[in-house]
Amino acid sequence: MRHKLFISFLIVLGLFAAGLPLLHSWGFFAHKQINRIAVFTLPEDLIGFYKENIEFITEHAVDPDKRRYAVNGEAERHFIDLDRYGVSPLDSIPKKWDDAVKKYSEDTLKAHGIVPWHIDVMVRRLTKAFRDEDFDRILRLSSDLGHYVADAHVPLHTTKNYNGQLTNQRGIHAFWESRLPELFSENYDFFVGKARYIADPLSYAWKVVGESFAAKDSVLLFEAELNQRFSSDRKYSYENRGASVMRVYSEDYSTEYNKMLDGMVERRMRAAIIGAGSLWFTAWVNAGQPDLSRFLHRKISPQTEQELIEEEKIFEQGKVKGRICD
Ligand SMILES: [Zn+2]
Repeated sequence: MRHKLFISFLIVLGLFAAGLPLLHSWGFFAHKQINRIAVFTLPEDLIGFYKENIEFITEHAVDPDKRRYAVNGEAERHFIDLDRYGVSPLDSIPKKWDDAVKKYSEDTLKAHGIVPWHIDVMVRRLTKAFRDEDFDRILRLSSDLGHYVADAHVPLHTTKNYNGQLTNQRGIHAFWESRLPELFSENYDFFVGKARYIADPLSYAWKVVGESFAAKDSVLLFEAELNQRFSSDRKYSYENRGASVMRVYSEDYSTEYNKMLDGMVERRMRAAIIGAGSLWFTAWVNAGQPDLSRFLHRKISPQTEQELIEEEKIFEQGKVKGRICD
């Protein structure tokens, strides 16, 4: 119920206050699904541990978005505006952080988003947590890593036109990543196979944002085209969400858009799921495959519990720190 309210909150913002920095992530619904299903990609030695903690991994899949309210420097971890770097950004941007800083400066990189580098950092942090056998950190970092991997799979997380604000398509961000999965994900095929070892997480992260970038033109152009064919009374409809009535993209319009995308949202969700599982697995392997059976029935420490409560409080006060995308 609660997360439904958040989703509708995001959709409404998407439609009426587009451009606000809240929109930069799969909707809460899709993030939670991605982390939850990623658990089932894991091999035998890991799946028991993750299954036992699946509620935490699911529920906290959205912490990084909530943290944008509390933590300076969080915002830029969720995206990279590749089109800020010329016509073939994937050739221009050095893949390694230090080389990229030399070429563009740290401020520039942060201003345009750092998701591929941050995924790499997170894998190393999670590896260390496994090595230290630090239960709380393993859970928190796994949840967070799943989030950033998922964000990197969203085409609109790789462009400065992240919410269609430059092409008069405001709201498209939440439309693609919240509305479509909400309406159609129950028909998606989430049998994605088994997690695999990823020898070079940084290259993997670059590959993912490259694919997202390649898809972003379709995301924008198809919707612009569809918009020509629908009058606004057919484009939008009104739905009861909790206590309020909200304007959303109509089911007809959403169905038509989903058809034009030809399974893109499903493909990106599937790739995000296998990616999240694979990077959890990779971190565990890199840590020397520690035996996790010692954590059986373990609970999060009161201290971490308290931290989470504090973060939630700040989130509910609702002040975003820093810029998200533009
Ligand atoms: Zn995000």
